[in-house]
Amino acid sequence: MTGRPGRTGKGGGQASAGDLLELVRSGRATTRGALQQATGLSRATVGQRLDRLFRAGWLREGAGGPVDSPLGGRPSITLEFDDEHAVVLAADLDTRHARAAVLSLTGEIHAEHTGTLVIEDGPEAVLGELGRWFAELLEKAGHRADMVCGIGLAVPGPVDNGTGRVVQPPIMPGWDGYDIRGRLARAFTDHTGTAEVPVLVDNDANLMAYGEQRTSWPDCSAFVLVKVSTGIGAGVVVDGSVYRGFDGGAGDIGHIRVPEGAGALCRCGSYGCLAAVASGGAVARRLAESGVPAASGSDVRDLLAAGHPEAVGLAREAGRRVGDVLATVVTLLNPGVLMIAGDLAGTPFLTGVRELLYQRALPRSTARLEVVTSRLGERAALVGAGALVVEHLYAPERVEERLRAMGV
Ligand SMILES: [Zn+2]
Repeated sequence: MTGRPGRTGKGGGQASAGDLLELVRSGRATTRGALQQATGLSRATVGQRLDRLFRAGWLREGAGGPVDSPLGGRPSITLEFDDEHAVVLAADLDTRHARAAVLSLTGEIHAEHTGTLVIEDGPEAVLGELGRWFAELLEKAGHRADMVCGIGLAVPGPVDNGTGRVVQPPIMPGWDGYDIRGRLARAFTDHTGTAEVPVLVDNDANLMAYGEQRTSWPDCSAFVLVKVSTGIGAGVVVDGSVYRGFDGGAGDIGHIRVPEGAGALCRCGSYGCLAAVASGGAVARRLAESGVPAASGSDVRDLLAAGHPEAVGLAREAGRRVGDVLATVVTLLNPGVLMIAGDLAGTPFLTGVRELLYQRALPRSTARLEVVTSRLGERAALVGAGALVVEHLYAPERVEERLRAMGV
């Protein structure tokens, strides 16, 4: 991912059709005059480049009618990104269920499906089924399969961004190094009878963070989301882009060793991980040991919703343990927003996080910090996955290549 801000230089005279599209999409310049002003291009050159974008069907005239031109003279027609010329497919895989949707290019959900899809059944079965869901969703939304410009997929494990493959995922047996992109593109093709489309794969916490930041905190330059469900993971968005680290490992905080975890076996095979003592899975195990029926993070969520006293106490304790680790995260990254999402995200857990966070982190790093819960809820990763695909396909550096391929 490349960030949106600051990509289009002023006055260089070199702005491409992709740069103009970016200016229109971001709302920074929406008339021919404003585009001339922002890029330093002549009226004729702006006209030629816009003409290609119109021919591709990516731009349309705004519904609001003409506005005053920044260059004076006649009022000018406003331009906008045509968000109906294509759709995106997105899916969010959890350990035992999945959510899939058809989205517009601006993130509006046209059709959605959730169902049982067990990640332990392995990539062949899961992605084959997902291809079938996508075909049904397109039909339900009334879109032709050739309208799909790309697929975004969120998975509950670490992803190598270059290859789209998961790397040693603790809770995805059989998926290590598997060619997810190739298999999903093939499943989509098999079920819809259309050509392959690009598939982008990323970690679920990364995509949740991306979706939430873009939707509710677009101006926040340092945003951290922590997902606490069956496992624990974090997504970091810096200057509008997902921060993945050197090779995709950033944010995998669930496997930091914590002193309280000494004897606890984690699903990754190690002892003492944060996830082994403070995840939804760990809380469920503690509840089950004392006779409360709970097997997963979502069982804990249901108990918390019903105000079950033991679940509430354990969630708060889990929050304190996560808060202790987050004191380091917050000190290192100094985020403006720290969002707690996932099955455990609720008042008891948040109270625990705040207790330890404010006690252990430097006051300087928490003074203006907002600690919040999810705004998009269960849809955060879907929205993030859809946005990732759109930003990838309409990034200035990819626009030229795509226009040429379309013969425009
Ligand atoms: Zn672990």
